[in-house]
Amino acid sequence: MPLANQTREKMSAHKIAFTEGNIIDGCLDHDVIQNGTILVNSATDEGRTYSTIDQVGSSNDIEIPGDYRVISLNGRYVLPGLINCHAHLPFDGTPKQPMSGKKVEKLIRKLKRSTLFQRAYAGKLKKNMVNALNAGITTVRGMAEPLYAEVALRKEQEKGLCAAPRIITAGPGICPTGGHANLISWIADGPWEFRKYVRKNIHEEVDFIKILSTGGVTDSRFVGEAGRVIMKPEEIEAACDEAHRNNMLVASHVQSPLGMKEAIKGGVDTIEHGSDFDDETADLMLDNPKSLRGYTAVVPTFSAAQAIIGRAGEGIITMTNVQVENSKIILERMVKGARACLDKGIRIGVGNDAIVPYVTQYNLWKELVLLVKYLGISHHHAIHLATLSSAKAIGVDQTTGSIEPGKSADFMVVDQNPLDDLKALAAPSMVCCMGRLIDSPVIREVKGVDTHRII
Ligand SMILES: [Zn+2]
Repeated sequence: MPLANQTREKMSAHKIAFTEGNIIDGCLDHDVIQNGTILVNSATDEGRTYSTIDQVGSSNDIEIPGDYRVISLNGRYVLPGLINCHAHLPFDGTPKQPMSGKKVEKLIRKLKRSTLFQRAYAGKLKKNMVNALNAGITTVRGMAEPLYAEVALRKEQEKGLCAAPRIITAGPGICPTGGHANLISWIADGPWEFRKYVRKNIHEEVDFIKILSTGGVTDSRFVGEAGRVIMKPEEIEAACDEAHRNNMLVASHVQSPLGMKEAIKGGVDTIEHGSDFDDETADLMLDNPKSLRGYTAVVPTFSAAQAIIGRAGEGIITMTNVQVENSKIILERMVKGARACLDKGIRIGVGNDAIVPYVTQYNLWKELVLLVKYLGISHHHAIHLATLSSAKAIGVDQTTGSIEPGKSADFMVVDQNPLDDLKALAAPSMVCCMGRLIDSPVIREVKGVDTHRII
């Protein structure tokens, strides 16, 4: 909400000028602003903080009004807060042994009904979000969790009651019987059941809808199951139609060329993970009459595949051999797909699929390293993809994603130049999210996860 519209009482305002920073604003065609200044105008209204970037530019061109508090960045680098377009927020990437089978499924279903478990789950979610925020991630998209805990945390966050990034949540996913991620999703069979659970999730105040129209890696039982189309086109269409009637985007888990084609024809707005695709599918992604906004974006998640394959290569098994094999197939498809998106100008968002062992809520910077490795792009381009391009992909670019006047003050400050080494993003020295300023943030590493190893 713009500050100009804030007329309620009990409002306290503060204005800050961040000076002497090297500003990477998130726009791909903009150079770094050397010795730049950002003017931020914030107000707190009944616990809720609003903030707007008023001006950005070279310090020589910006006059700082007398009522601004000045914070010098002393030549450090400032860039928009990162956006994790694909994560499962209550999960922290703890390394674990492969778990599957009916017994485990039964145990998990029982656990979900336990109050004690629900409390621990909400606590873990909060802890994870503090970590994400302290790592400079100012927007996260929750891609399926079964208990609507992300909705509850978003409400707390909006009231200023807790430290967390901006949360955009799907609540539980929706998949058919036996489908991928069915332990964290509603089970729906047939178009009307998909409509029913879209309606249920909307009633529970989710922000968008997640469906799973193909099989996935983490619960696959045979090679080729990941990417196998498991929803009928009429089910995909029904889910999209119902969500779009309510002005909500639809994301679908998709890991094969046929899966891409059918999801996109059905009107899906963002393809999660992705695959290679043919020309007809590419044209539809650029101009998709059935989607909510007229186009379909893709969110690759290299970290997840890399963590499974790389660790298996080191003899650390967190998935079955079948799942490792499927991961290799999926990674190859995902790389081809993302490269084709770049070539054809299809919108890309960035996510790491934090839930997979070794993929944490705070190490999204590694996904940028993998984008550079697999797509052959510059560091600047990777930062653009994880900020402004991601904001566009998930529909929040009016609010965040770049350091530009009129947007929310969502940014991170790092000591070294990330255009030289992306590892500079691993430990920001300051984070600002929706007007909340965190000086010297501390990331609490998950035990057993080696922060600085890429593979
Ligand atoms: Zn996922």
